[in-house]
Amino acid sequence: MPNNAVMNGSSVENFCAAVEAVLDDGFREMAAEAERQGVFPREVLARLGAAGVFTDKWAGGYRFQLAKLVGLYTALGAECSGGVGVGVSLHDSALAILHRFASSDHLRSLCADATAGTAVLCIGASEQTGGSDLQAVRTTAVRDGSGYVLTGAKAFVSLSSVADFALVLAQCVENGSDHRPGNLGLFALPLTSASVGEPYDKLGANSLDTAPIEFDTWLPAEALLGRPGIGLAAITWGLTHERLSIAAQVSGACDRVLGLTVARMMRREQFGKPLFGHQALRLRVADLHAKVAMLRLALQGMAASEQIDVRTAAGLKVTAARLGQEVVGECLHIFGGAGYLTAETPLARWWQDMQLSRIGSGTDEVLWEVVAAGMKPDFNEYDALFGEPEPRKE
Ligand SMILES: Cc1cc2nc3c(=O)[nH]c(=O)nc-3n(C[C@H](O)[C@H](O)[C@H](O)COP(=O)(O)OP(=O)(O)OC[C@H]3O[C@@H](n4cnc5c(N)ncnc54)[C@H](O)[C@@H]3O)c2cc1C
Repeated sequence: MPNNAVMNGSSVENFCAAVEAVLDDGFREMAAEAERQGVFPREVLARLGAAGVFTDKWAGGYRFQLAKLVGLYTALGAECSGGVGVGVSLHDSALAILHRFASSDHLRSLCADATAGTAVLCIGASEQTGGSDLQAVRTTAVRDGSGYVLTGAKAFVSLSSVADFALVLAQCVENGSDHRPGNLGLFALPLTSASVGEPYDKLGANSLDTAPIEFDTWLPAEALLGRPGIGLAAITWGLTHERLSIAAQVSGACDRVLGLTVARMMRREQFGKPLFGHQALRLRVADLHAKVAMLRLALQGMAASEQIDVRTAAGLKVTAARLGQEVVGECLHIFGGAGYLTAETPLARWWQDMQLSRIGSGTDEVLWEVVAAGMKPDFNEYDALFGEPEPRKE
């Protein structure tokens, strides 16, 4: 066990210190190499696992410790390696599902290996027919003896070229004929039983390789998380974890980018004074600084409340992602031409990476729908103020 290993259920401060010890120069070299090669570095998960980070984070069982989630992903976000940060959080979000829904020895053993960082997990939910609308997935799991035949194709599976297992969302068909739409199940599919396609060329997050997968294989019933019908609840639990992780990553990244931009504004002079001396720029950055502080405080407040809530997570993620895009876009602009040149500053790469936060684990519109479904009208106040409308006179 390495020296920086942490005890189960350590304090948040000790947990964050263990995370910081992993995010050293070696981590930065791995992240840079992964960015060049376009392949997620498995070694990052192995190191986090060996340092006891996942074991500690999940020490309290499936109700993950929110302050540790915020600490881990704010620190990863500040590294500004969008692909590596999202790759870690996808593995960890799959772990969130396993810690809650693993009901067989097979799945509990996979959960233990993934918590130790010796097995890598990914998530195969979206398909050509079902991205935002996960109920529309066409992958089927047809009951066959003591297991299921899992058949289908997943359009976007990040980490699939380096992972061991994918958690795959499928329509469960119990007796071969009566297919009830919405009877979703989530299966742990060994990727040795799937065909992984070529990773996509994409706008950013190069260290997060994303590829399609196809499969037509028999799996024992022990590979099913929970029971048929709870697949949507299980994936929603994982996505809630992922959305909170992304909000924290955006917060960490924005703090770092703003700090660098303010330094740039104080160092670079135009029209005889530092950029910071130009009120138009200074106030724009102050506005962003205040908004990012609100995001940080919102995450801390949520962590202190220890309440995990699907709507709050959806609202935080969409608001953070849109703020992140605004912050990095404005900072790139303030760096001027150098911000646009990829060899001179990393701003353009960071801007490209940030675009993914508005799409992955639920787009803006899908998350706003989640928020809208929880909005409550105040009819009492409304009726007291405005009363019933007068019937129209002809
Ligand atoms: C780099 C990358 C990595 C990914 N990794 C994974 C992964 O590891 N695992 C995985 O399962 N998925 C992954 N995804 C898929 C991602 O979750 C989906 O792309 C995303 O959820 C959107 O689905 P879609 O692409 O099918 O878009 P669509 O669902 O077709 O949506 C298209 C547009 O329409 C909007 N829209 C859709 N429905 C509505 C509505 N009712 N009202 C208003 N607007 C609507 C959406 O907001 C979006 O702007 C990844 C995607 C990318 C780009």
